[in-house]
Formats: sequence, C-alpha cells, structure tokens
Amino acid sequence: MQVVSSIDEMQSLAKEFRKQGKTIGLVPTMGFLHEGHLSLVDLVKDRSDIVILSIFVNPTQFGIGEDLEKYPRDLTRDLELCNERQVDFVFAPDESRMYAADYSTFVSEEKVGAGLCGLARPTHFRGVTTVCAKLFNLCMPDFVALGQKDAQQVILLKKMISDLNFPIEVLVGPIVREPGGLAMSSRNEHLQTKQREGALILLQSMQAGKKLVDEKEITNVGRVKSEVMSILTESSVVRVNYVEIVDRKTMEVEREIEPGRSLIVVAAWLNEVRLIDNLPL
Ligand code: AMP
Repeated sequence: MQVVSSIDEMQSLAKEFRKQGKTIGLVPTMGFLHEGHLSLVDLVKDRSDIVILSIFVNPTQFGIGEDLEKYPRDLTRDLELCNERQVDFVFAPDESRMYAADYSTFVSEEKVGAGLCGLARPTHFRGVTTVCAKLFNLCMPDFVALGQKDAQQVILLKKMISDLNFPIEVLVGPIVREPGGLAMSSRNEHLQTKQREGALILLQSMQAGKKLVDEKEITNVGRVKSEVMSILTESSVVRVNYVEIVDRKTMEVEREIEPGRSLIVVAAWLNEVRLIDNLPL
C-alpha cells in the first residue's frame, strides 16, 4: 500500500494506470474509518484493478459553526485498516494543496441537494460536489463506491456525474450498522454509550413506519410520517430535523407510498451530533 499526499503525484499515477489499461476504483472518505467505509473497499475491489481510498476532511462541506475542528481524525489507525483491507493507494492530501488560498471555483447541483439535508446545511452539498469533482479529476476512477447511509448524497453525486459527463460508474454499498442497529458513522465517536443506545430510536422509529406499510398496507405519506415523528419526539432523546418519505431514485418527496420505490429518511440531533439514517419501504 502506498500513501500519496501530493495531488500532482496522484494524478500522474492515475494517468499511468489508465495508460496501462487498468481500471481504477475510488472510495472517497473523510477518514476515521469504520466497517461502513471498508465495505466500500470490498465493493469496488471486485470491479477494479487499482483501489484508491481518499481521506480528506473537506472544509468546504462544513458550514459555519459546524464540527470541522472537532471532526474525529486518526490517520495512523486509518492507514492500518486500509493496509489490512488491501487498499492499493491512500490519497490523503493537505487542505492547502486541495484548496489554494485564492481558490474560487465550485460545483453546485441545484435540485437534488436543495431539500432535506440541504435545508439544514445550505452550503454542505456544494462542498461535497466540489471536492468529489476534484477527486475525480485527480484519481480518474472508472468506479466510485458510495454508501447508502448518505442516500441524498448518492443521488446528488450520480446527478453530478451524469450532468457533467464524468465517465464513472457509481457502486452503492448497503448501510453497515453497529450490532444494535445504529448506522455506523465517524461522528458516533462523539456519542457516549448511553447516547448510542438512545440513538437506536432512529432505526426503531423508521421500522415502526415500515410496519404500517408492510402489515396494514398503508400508503398515506402523512400517516406513516407522523408515526415515525411521534416515536422520535416521544423518546425526547433526539431533536428531529426532518422525517420525509421520498422517491429513492430522485429524493423527491412522495405523494403516496409505493413499496419498492419509497424511502423513509430521517435526520436528528443528539446533543451536538447530527445523525442521518434511511430505510427502504
Ligand atoms: P464519510 O467519511 O462519512 O464522508 O463517508 C465516506 C463514504 O462512506 C460515503 O460514501 C458514505 O456514505 C459511506 N459510509 C459512511 N458510513 C457508512 C455506513 N454506515 N454504511 C455504509 N456506508 C457508509
């Protein structure tokens, strides 16, 4: 495994592999790796000759007052995990190399990212699309692996890839959960044991909503949303940001639930930690 911090070196390596006819798979991450990230390495490895995992805590996707400084970091441990998982290259650029002092170009998707997390975090997705466009130009992947945990991000990046004609196929990995059911996230590091237990309410509330659809064949969006919402608010452990039922392919809010198409998405704060999760109906 090789660790690359220079953006020029990363691009030269990618060019060289492409010249040799090798396929490249990229797993973009912000580090503090867990099994959710590593499952994406396995996913992309099946399709690619070369696996690159990028680690970059991207400042442009954090809003003012968000947790950029507090975001958990442990490069040494991340490198060990990547080595064990047989990643070929870890691309870990410095912030100053990714964004020069006079940096002024941004990529912005204007539809998929407008709602849901885009409302609570108005500059977030612009940062995500910008950094991913840069990572795609530097790593030149044939495949990029993204996690279903960030459902809106998946659809947003697919849209950017299609709109801007990046020759990249997106592979989507399922949500990897802790044994109790909490979706793995680097930010879970900030939760104490009791809070982790409390955070299980996210999945439990969505499961209760799904039960109405599965067992009572309810297709009324308002009915299912209010079931999920009432469980979340009754728990008083979390502060709800949103509960929505969307079309999983477009992230547009559903008028009526269609099993196989609809997705419950939730976002909530547990103290200062913002958690998101989703469950297909
Ligand atoms: P992050 O480091 O949080 O920006 O995540 C990097 C990638 O890992 C994104 O594509 C995420 O959707 C994915 N990911 C994060 N957590 C999980 C999880 N629990 N299960 C599956 N994929 C995940």
